[in-house]
Amino acid sequence: MRDAARAASVSEDKAGLAALPPLREVIKRHGLAASKALGQNFLLDEQLLDRIARVPGDLAGATVYEVGPGPGGLTRALLRAGAEVVAVERDARCLPALAELAEASGRLRVISGDAMKVDEAAEAGVGAHIAANLPYNVGTALLVRWLTIDAWPPWWRSLTLMFQREVADRIVAAPGSDAYGRFSVLAQWRSTARLAMPVHRSAFVPPPKVMSAVVHITPANQPKGVTIRAIEQLTAAAFGQRRKMLRQSLKAVPGAVAAAEAAGIDPSRRAETVSVAEFVTLARTLSAARQDC
Ligand code: SAM
Repeated sequence: MRDAARAASVSEDKAGLAALPPLREVIKRHGLAASKALGQNFLLDEQLLDRIARVPGDLAGATVYEVGPGPGGLTRALLRAGAEVVAVERDARCLPALAELAEASGRLRVISGDAMKVDEAAEAGVGAHIAANLPYNVGTALLVRWLTIDAWPPWWRSLTLMFQREVADRIVAAPGSDAYGRFSVLAQWRSTARLAMPVHRSAFVPPPKVMSAVVHITPANQPKGVTIRAIEQLTAAAFGQRRKMLRQSLKAVPGAVAAAEAAGIDPSRRAETVSVAEFVTLARTLSAARQDC
C-alpha cells in the first residue's frame, strides 16, 4: 500500500478502535474472569499499555507477533501504534472479544492455540517484532526458544516482554551481581538486553504477588567461531557451581579449564565474575582447541 493510502486506512482503523467499549466492559460482557491456571493477570490502563507499545520504537506499518493477548489490552495499544498484529491465544474464551477487535481494526489476525506449538516465523514473517505479557513459565520457555535459534540474526526484530522483576533483573544483569547467571549470558552474548520499564503489581487485574518489568531485547552480531551449544555447555557448568572456582566448576566440560588458562581467564575466579565477552572468548578458545585435536 502507498504511504498516503496506508496513513488514511490506519486513521480509519484508529477511529474503529476508539469506538470500542472499555476493556473492563469487554471482560464483563464476555465473562473473562482471570484464570489462575492460565496465569492471567490483565493490564487495563491504556496509558501504561501505550507506553509498553512504544518500547520497540515506531510500529507504524510493522508486524508484531503478540503472545497471549487475553482480552486485548496490549493488542489495542499495538494497533493504536499502527502495527499489524498476529496474536496467539490459548484461552478460547477470549476469542470472541479478539474477533471484535480484529473487525474494528482490520489489522489483527488471531491464532487460537498454544504459543509453544506455533511456527511463529511462518505466521508472523521475517522482521516481525514480538511483544507479550505472559505467565512466568511460558515467558521464560519462549524466551529461551527465541534466544537459542541457530540462524542468526533471527527472524524476529525485537522482543518486548513482561517478566516478573526478578527474572527481568537476571536477563539484564552485569557480572558481579547476584542476579548474573546463565540467563544473563544467554540473553547478552549475541543480543542487547535492557530493562525498559518497571511495572507495579497494582497495574494488573488481579494483582500478582510480585513486581514486574518490561525487558527489550534486540539481536546483535553473532561472534565468529562460537556456537550456542558451546555457550550453553560452559554456562551450565560454570553457574551450576557458581560459588566454586572455575578450576572446579569447569571440570565437567572436557578441555574447558585449559581453554580458560589459554584465554587468559584466571581459573581461580568464580563464574559470577566472568563477563559475557570472556565467556565468548572461552567458548571460542575451547572450540578452536577441539578442532586442533
Ligand atoms: N496480554 C494480556 C494483558 O496484558 O492484559 C493478557 C496477559 S495474561 C498475563 C497472559 C495471557 O497469555 C492470557 O490471556 C493467557 O490465556 C495467555 N496464555 C497463557 N499461556 C499461553 C500459551 N501457552 N500460548 C498462548 N497464550 C497463552
